[in-house]
Amino acid sequence: MLPMVSQVTNYTQEAVRAARYIGQGFLVTLSHMDRPPITIQYPYEKLVPSERFRGRIHFEFDKCIACEVCVRVCPINLPVVHWEFQASRKKKQLKAYSIDFGLCIFCGNCVEYCPTNCLSMTEEYELSVYDRHELNYDNVALGRLPSSTESDPMVYSVQNMVSLPKGAMESRSINKTATLMRPEGEA
Ligand code: SF4
Ligand code: SF4
Repeated sequence: MLPMVSQVTNYTQEAVRAARYIGQGFLVTLSHMDRPPITIQYPYEKLVPSERFRGRIHFEFDKCIACEVCVRVCPINLPVVHWEFQASRKKKQLKAYSIDFGLCIFCGNCVEYCPTNCLSMTEEYELSVYDRHELNYDNVALGRLPSSTESDPMVYSVQNMVSLPKGAMESRSINKTATLMRPEGEA
C-alpha cells in the first residue's frame, strides 16, 4: 500500500511541476503580445534604409581617373578597371569598369578611398537575380541611378515601425514602443 501512495504522490508532484512550466511558457508568450511588430509585409511594404546604408555601389564613369586605388583597398581586389595608356596625352584612358556584387561584401572601402569620389553607396538593396553572373555590374549598370523606395507608388514605404498604417499596430501604442526601445536602466 505504501509504495502505491508514494507513487501517486510523486506523480502528483510531477504533474504540478509540469503545469507550472507550461504556465511559465504561456507567461513569456503573453509578455511578447504587448511588443511592437519587427516585421513588415515585404514587398508591399518596404523599409526606407538609413542615410548611411551601404547598398549597391553607384559609379560615375566620367570622374574616374583609373588610378586603381579602389582595387588596392578592396579586401578581395574586386573592382575590375580596364584602361589604356594614351601616349599623346600621357594619361590613362578608362575603357571599362565593373564590380561583381555576387562577391562584394559592401564594406565601403573603395568608396571611402576613391580620390575623385566617383563611387558612392546607394540605398538599393534588392539585388536578387536568377543567375549569379548577372550580379557582375559593368560601368553602365553601375552608372544607373538607384531606385528609391519612397518614389515607388506601388509600395508603402516604412520609415520605421511606428510609421506603419493605422491599425497595423492595433493594441500596440507608440508610447509602449518607445518604452520597449529604451535602453535598460533608463526610466
Ligand atoms: S579609386 Fe576611384 S578614380 Fe581610382 S580607379 Fe577606382 S573608381 Fe576610378
Ligand atoms: S565595397 Fe568593399 S568588397 Fe565591395 S568592391 Fe568596394 S572595397 Fe571591394
